[in-house]
Amino acid sequence: MTQLPAAFRHELEAAFEIPRLSVSARQKSTDGTEKFLFRLHDGEHIETVAIPEGSRLTLCISSQAGCALQCSFCATGAMGFSRNLALYEIAGQVREVALLTGSIPTNIVFMGMGEPLMNWKAVDPTLTVLNDPKGFGIGARHITVSTVGVLPGIVALGERKEQFRLAISIHAPSDALRRTLMPINTKYPLAQVIEAARVFDRRVTFEYVMLHGVNDLEEHAHQLADLAKRCKAFVNLIPLHPGGAGNFVPTTPQSIAAFARKIRSRGVEVAIRKSRGKDIAAACGQLRVERQRRRMPVGAEKDSDIQVA
Ligand code: SAH
Repeated sequence: MTQLPAAFRHELEAAFEIPRLSVSARQKSTDGTEKFLFRLHDGEHIETVAIPEGSRLTLCISSQAGCALQCSFCATGAMGFSRNLALYEIAGQVREVALLTGSIPTNIVFMGMGEPLMNWKAVDPTLTVLNDPKGFGIGARHITVSTVGVLPGIVALGERKEQFRLAISIHAPSDALRRTLMPINTKYPLAQVIEAARVFDRRVTFEYVMLHGVNDLEEHAHQLADLAKRCKAFVNLIPLHPGGAGNFVPTTPQSIAAFARKIRSRGVEVAIRKSRGKDIAAACGQLRVERQRRRMPVGAEKDSDIQVA
């Protein structure tokens, strides 16, 4: 900012800094999905995934290092919670990817590591930085906050005047089953989460990860459709990414399609999420876990296609 007096610039430089996040690993899938593992100043690692699709570039960002929620199928849950990320570390993921790849993402999803609504203090101003024309200028409708259903956070998001999107990880259509998959259900039971979604003044998406023999039976499809109807939600069925946690088996693509048809037949909109970056362990927490397991030496990072078992 050469228009400012030199003395003032020195003062600014001494008083403030916007630290960079350093790239600890970078992997590109054969489908174009690219995953970044960033190392933070205190040695914590977080993941960011860039998913190109036609003219869109969706960035999946982390809001916490680790996660306290321990959903039974999730690799991040298995590693436990380290700490909340600061604003510059959340927005910094967008900045770093823009600097590293030369493209500014068109869409943002808070579906990386952590529970964004348990770090609202930092996520709230991050939404502003991402959306504001003086920041990244990404449209509010293109920014999705994904949550297990943290009720005060849903209210706070709903109070923002911008049209930020809300996605809720439902994963089971009854308290009894949801409790076994998502311990948070004890604190925020399904009925209250559904009610919060109903009064949220914008369209809500349900996320539902398909676990063979666990939550993919016919009765589940009907129960899920009823819940979605109650709050006019759109249902996103997610194929289980192998390499998460627990010993879950993915539902076959044919069975997922049949499950979707049952939901649709009840008048509920449903889509099957395309699984991306399977060869680079791109689901929540998987790269960090993978890296800890293999103890990849510094300098061994690859930015070409790699196969991860
Ligand atoms: N805590 C937030 C956001 C992070 S996880 C939330 O739970 O919504 C983003 C999504 O990825 C969630 O729906 C989560 O359940 C899902 N997920 C985690 N592990 C997965 C796996 N192995 N396969 C498919 N989806 C997974």
